[in-house]
Amino acid sequence: MLEMNDRRNTGSGLDLSVLPRVINVNGTMTSLGASIMVPEAIAAMQEIAPRFVPMHKLQREASQLIAELTGAEAGFVTASAAAGIALTIAGSMTGLNPGRAEQLPDASGMKNKVVIQLGHMCHYGAAVDQSIRLTGAVPVPVGQSTQALDHQLDHALAGGDVAAALYVVSHHVVEYGQIPLDRFVAIAHSHGVPVIVDGASEYDLGAFLKAGADIAIYSGHKFLGGPTSGIVAGRRDLVRAAYLQNIGIGRGMKVGKESIWGVMAALNAWKTRDHEGILAREQAALDLWQSAVAPFPGVTARRNPDPTGNPLDRLRLDISAKTLGASALAIVKAMASLDIPVILRDHEVELGWIQLDPCNLHDGDAEIVADSLVKVLTRARAGELPEPDVTAHRNGGIATYLNPDLF
Ligand SMILES: *Cc1c(COP(=O)(O)O)cnc(C)c1O
Repeated sequence: MLEMNDRRNTGSGLDLSVLPRVINVNGTMTSLGASIMVPEAIAAMQEIAPRFVPMHKLQREASQLIAELTGAEAGFVTASAAAGIALTIAGSMTGLNPGRAEQLPDASGMKNKVVIQLGHMCHYGAAVDQSIRLTGAVPVPVGQSTQALDHQLDHALAGGDVAAALYVVSHHVVEYGQIPLDRFVAIAHSHGVPVIVDGASEYDLGAFLKAGADIAIYSGHKFLGGPTSGIVAGRRDLVRAAYLQNIGIGRGMKVGKESIWGVMAALNAWKTRDHEGILAREQAALDLWQSAVAPFPGVTARRNPDPTGNPLDRLRLDISAKTLGASALAIVKAMASLDIPVILRDHEVELGWIQLDPCNLHDGDAEIVADSLVKVLTRARAGELPEPDVTAHRNGGIATYLNPDLF
């Protein structure tokens, strides 16, 4: 029989060199493995891996920590923020009725509408409305893409069959013309409908509950630097009902002991994280990159504050293809093809601008990024960069899944 000790610190036995190093100046992207895990989370996962733990007791511990950090009555950990959305919506449909939890996604006999502003129906690697539909609920979009009005929300909530109202806080949503959270909450509550906030990628763990939301959902693996996981925080009755879904549709979204303990360590570390020191390091990286690109005509660099108010600036590079000699997309592709690939933030590349996100850097990465920018922009100026196929790039996310060479 193996001793406990034999199972520890033996190395993985795997060859990590099959996964070459990548520098991520894109952001906390699922496609790149989210974020750099904080050491506390890594230690926690290792420490709990060989043990048996009563999972309800573990979640109870998580609840207390989540409550402390968010101001919530209770909380639990799930597989991801996307899972948290589905589970809390399901919970708002079933309440604490286990028969109903087992019945889903057949929603007969339950409130089955979920109201969401059309401008919030975004895509974060999957569509937010699919997290709603997974439960058997039907999304009810409010307003148009760039405009939602109070009376439209009020009307959508009026039927008596609305289980929940979902509000997304994200750079992915339309930035203007949306109903602010406090108004959204007031109107939903006037109909007795709970508000669930998807704040997966937001720093402020208390703001949405403070603004009156009934549930706030975060990713454990974004700014927190925890393992892949989701945090659900809020009203005790809704948290309990969402947690109950683990006997039903939540089973396929199961979270392990290692992720719960790991994200708890990340939450704990968040309390004492040197946020100002991190910000200063990020600003130094932005300075370095800004001066690296300054000599190149056709490249305009400026600070871009985070659109949802997270304490984070990115560097925005506006590329004049005519002046520089290559498009923004050509720069993105060339940076990603270097010996050490540098992955830029390219959400707006078709508009001619790209961003560099400084929040996932290891020591020395910022300098490599600066050198790589100079190298690639020099080639751009010499007319040496091929112009990529814009259509292929736009559809590229799907193509990577369908790539027959994958397996
Ligand atoms: C990242 C993100 C999600 C998905 O989070 P996961 O934890 O990866 O499931 C959902 N909503 C928003 C706004 C996000 O940014």
